[in-house]
Amino acid sequence: MKAENVSPEDLQWVCRKCNRPLEAGTVSVEYMGNQFTTELPTCPGCGFVLISESLALGKMAEVEQILEDK
Ligand SMILES: [Zn+2]
Repeated sequence: MKAENVSPEDLQWVCRKCNRPLEAGTVSVEYMGNQFTTELPTCPGCGFVLISESLALGKMAEVEQILEDK
């Protein structure tokens, strides 16, 4: 998985719970019954993972495509 899932705009987000800026981190995601790791903006405090709408709509579709091609 490429690090391009994390865009500079995403890292301007601040965790509402901890009031800390999000950092790029490797997270394990489960999608359509498949588990994979990718880099996403995460909160270093509570582990909150930001999945932006564009990621959910675009990248997940891309991931789905990759899984189908396998
Ligand atoms: Zn947090």
